[in-house]
Parts: sequence; C-alpha cells; structure tokens
Amino acid sequence: FDQRDGSLWFDGKLVPWKDAKAHVLTHGLHYASCVFEGERMYNGRIYKLKEHTHRLFESARILGITIPFTEDEISAACIEACEVQGYKDAYVRPVVYRGSEMMAVSAQSTKTHVAIAAWQWPSYFDPETKMKGIRLDVSDWKRPAPDTAPTQAKAAGLYMICTMSKHAAEAKGYADAMMLDYRGYVAEATGANIFFVKGGTLYTPPADCFLNGITRQSVIALAKLHQIPVVERLIRTDELPTFTECFLTGSAAEVTPVSEIGPWKFTPGDICRKLMTVYSEDVNAEVSVVKL
Ligand code: PMP
Repeated sequence: FDQRDGSLWFDGKLVPWKDAKAHVLTHGLHYASCVFEGERMYNGRIYKLKEHTHRLFESARILGITIPFTEDEISAACIEACEVQGYKDAYVRPVVYRGSEMMAVSAQSTKTHVAIAAWQWPSYFDPETKMKGIRLDVSDWKRPAPDTAPTQAKAAGLYMICTMSKHAAEAKGYADAMMLDYRGYVAEATGANIFFVKGGTLYTPPADCFLNGITRQSVIALAKLHQIPVVERLIRTDELPTFTECFLTGSAAEVTPVSEIGPWKFTPGDICRKLMTVYSEDVNAEVSVVKL
C-alpha cells in the first residue's frame, strides 16, 4: 500500500506517496497518540466534509493534541489529496499523530503531524448483491465504558479490539463482528454502526460509548424525512430474534444489509433497500438534504 505511485498531503505540502514516512520511534505508533478520519468523495464532492473535519479536530482535542492547521485548511487539503490523484470518487483518510521527538508516555515535546491520503475504494457489490446481506460473528471483546477510554474520539487506540474482533470473525468465515458494550448491550460493528428494523420502525443503540457515526446521523435524518420512525434505545441480544432487518452504516460501509449475526437471521427487505437508495442519492446530490 505504501509503494504506490502518486502523491499525498503531508504536513502542509504534497509529497510523493512512497516518501511519506514516519520514524519507528513515533509516539503515535508506540502509545496510540493518533486520531483519524474516513470519508468519501462522490462526483468530486466529499460527503459531509465539514463534519468529518470537525470530528477530526474534536478527536484531537479529546486526546489533548493540537492540530497545527485550521479546519478550513484541513478540509481544503482533503480535496487536494483527491485532486492530486485525479480522483472524483475516492476514500479519504486524514490522520493526526504525535511524532518521534521524545520517547516516553509523556509526549510534551513531540510535534503533531497531519497526513491525508486518498485512494479508490469502490463499493464492490451492486445493490442486489448487497441485498443478500453480510454475516456477522459476535465478538468476545466489549466496547469500553466512556470513563475507560475516549469513546467519542475516532482514536487509533480504540481500534485495537476492533482488529482483534474482525480477525477472529474472519477466521470463522464471517465478514465482520458485532460488538457488545461494557454493559452487554448491542453496540456496533468493528468499523460501522448498526440498525435493526421491526414493524417498519428503525431501532439503533444510543451512541453513548461508541462513535456517533456521521453516516448513522445522516441515515437517521433520511429515515425521518421518509416517514420511517427511528427509536434510539438500548438493545439486548435476547431481542435480536424479534427484528426482521438489520444493516450497518459507515462512510466506508455506506448502508450494508446484514443477513446473520451469530445464531440470529435477518432478511434484508424494503427498509434496507429504501435507505440504501436514499443514502446513495444524497451522497451523489449536489446539495445534501440532510442537515446535521
Ligand atoms: N464506528 C466505528 C468503530 C467506525 O470506525 C466507524 C467508521 N468511521 C463508524 C462507527 C461509522 O462512522 P461514520 O459513519 O462517521 O463513518
């Protein structure tokens, strides 16, 4: 991945992709002093760019990291990272991390670095293949409590248990894992939020110990605009058999129907199809109908 041609944005300028390197003694690598974003450009426009950039700054603020650029500069750099690669449709990854000027838990004299790379990451499945749904395992790892980890930050450290959960699921032939929270309620997947459907109503857990995804917020708004009621409440695993449809949301995942979670089966249907369609229309529209 690091040996590609082209350029990316690194600390204020465009550099050759292959030369965008960090030292092995980087604080962000040893102590996870690192936050990032994941967003998509559609037709030359990054969907909810301002919201993603703002969340990057919020994530950094929560970790006590000061980003040496303004939000407008970072938003412009996200577009530049796509344009330099000649992309109109791309996945964009801004990352902020503490450098290698000192090596200790304390990071008082490290510099903050910012890099933004864009690459092509199409949705590999056409909508009808997607409607078959993906299969999820149930992870043994739980999302931590908000007083155990900075759960509202998109912080690299929080992804350690996500990669472990995803690998464990993949080893058993599943596409991804559903994670429970520290109380045992349904939380989310390893890189996407989760929704269920029962009697024409959407149910999703409140984002009180995991990322309140920008796609999650957009899908809730779109559902309400289309007269689909949305209930945010704690969900127990013993109610999973009462739901008929299930789907994941995320900037990378978009709206992805789920057919199975461990022993529980779902049949992606009208609500999955409707939300996939209206989300796709909104991300491709010149002006989003969603105000977050
Ligand atoms: N939860 C996790 C753990 C994620 O990594 C993501 C992807 N950023 C999401 C939820 C969805 O967030 P968004 O819709 O803002 O991409």
